[in-house]
Amino acid sequence: MIETNVKIPYVNENCIWCSACVAICGEVFDLDDEWKAFVKDGMDSSNSDWIDDAIMACPVNAIHYKK
Ligand code: SF4
Repeated sequence: MIETNVKIPYVNENCIWCSACVAICGEVFDLDDEWKAFVKDGMDSSNSDWIDDAIMACPVNAIHYKK
């Protein structure tokens, strides 16, 4: 098995579709048809600084990293 240090974010049910994460890191986050944020398939982990910024900017603490 190959070990990696790639941190994968997810968005939980607290999302209030403010779109801040999309504005900050649109390469990773998008809004679905119901305007809830989600993490795009095949997201690029090289955006980790921007992901951290999106986590800090989320007003309801809805973005976390998978353990
Ligand atoms: S910043 Fe937070 S509340 Fe706003 S769209 Fe993203 S996950 Fe949802």
